[in-house]
Amino acid sequence: MTAPEPTTASPSSAAPATNGADHPALALRDLRKTFGSAVAVDGVDLDVRRGEFLTLLGPSGSGKTTTLRMVAGFMAPTAGSIEIDGSDMTRVPPYRRDVGMVFQNYALFPHMTAADNVAFPLRMRRRPAAEIKKRVADALELVKLGGYGDRYPRQLSGGQQQRVALARAVVFEPRLLLMDEPLGALDRKLRESLQLEIIRVSRELGATVLYVTHDQEEALVMSDRIAIFSAGRIEQLGSGEDLYDRPASLFVADFIGESNILRGRYEADGGDGDWVTRDNARWRVGRDAAARAELSSGTPAALVVRPERIRIVDGGGAGDGLNVVEAMVDEVLYLGPDTKYHLALGWGQRVAVREPRESSGRELQRGDQVRLAWSVDDGLLVADPGGA
Ligand code: ATP
Repeated sequence: MTAPEPTTASPSSAAPATNGADHPALALRDLRKTFGSAVAVDGVDLDVRRGEFLTLLGPSGSGKTTTLRMVAGFMAPTAGSIEIDGSDMTRVPPYRRDVGMVFQNYALFPHMTAADNVAFPLRMRRRPAAEIKKRVADALELVKLGGYGDRYPRQLSGGQQQRVALARAVVFEPRLLLMDEPLGALDRKLRESLQLEIIRVSRELGATVLYVTHDQEEALVMSDRIAIFSAGRIEQLGSGEDLYDRPASLFVADFIGESNILRGRYEADGGDGDWVTRDNARWRVGRDAAARAELSSGTPAALVVRPERIRIVDGGGAGDGLNVVEAMVDEVLYLGPDTKYHLALGWGQRVAVREPRESSGRELQRGDQVRLAWSVDDGLLVADPGGA
């Protein structure tokens, strides 16, 4: 039998790795920022994985830009820390953070050509001329502006300027790429094509991206994970699918995608299942949803059902796995391949239902009485902090 090596380090005393491979690309710890008595960022914890595309999404004023500016180093946190690749950067000036940035208002130097704009970060780093030339050509090629190096910003369209800004942000192969509403000033079509460009470029480079937007579709299209911001905090962090299918709060359910929100009170299983009740109505809650929400019986709660999960049915009562309600058609909207209905339940509750046009084979009109049904498992249960 051999005695344990006295010098062997236990896991808890292991020295930190020095090559950065074990660290998240970016780690925010209890990050805070106040302006006088106003709290802009209220204790944000976040790990961004290497190569990940992570988006901060939330309403105006929720603290996204302030968080990004602290990561960039333009603003000092009131408290908390910022680590990039395992190194503490909280007090390090922006130019030493090795971070590329793209903002909404292009911010190209107007008196420099596209090529000189892209070359700028390399000149600042005093790279040799031959290397600068090659890297600038590669970066312009990467954003599909190979022939545009001699043009000045005023000779480029908004989308082209933003691609130059992207080339400039990635040309020095930064550890981290920060983007704040980079497509905010562009029209919808251009925005959609540049979303795909940005994804392609960041994947080709294997870049870690922290992206800010208030456009949920943009966030869903682009991101590996999304952090939903509300009042300076991360309300939920997850993939688009997580947030849509398993929102952790009423705020997230309401913010991501369209929701029907049926407010009431949660009644835990008294022998006949879990329910949300309201006046004379009650809707069954699936076991999984009830377990996930961890609510105590009697607390205000909401059942959230997505419009595409509700079906307009011809007849029949509530089967075991179904909730069925009576409703009156209020509005019919033709949305290309889908039809969307707005319907009224009792107590002033309105519900939206969306179904593929050809699947229904019926023509409903305002005033028609119908039945709506949804699978119990499609109802998401969340606490309703504002509920009675
Ligand atoms: P938007 O989507 O509108 O850009 P945001 O989520 O990025 O919003 P922030 O710009 O981070 O929000 O602002 C968060 C809060 O901090 C807001 O209430 C804002 O008014 C406040 N704030 C931001 N910068 C300052 C400042 N320099 N001085 C005072 N208050 C500020």
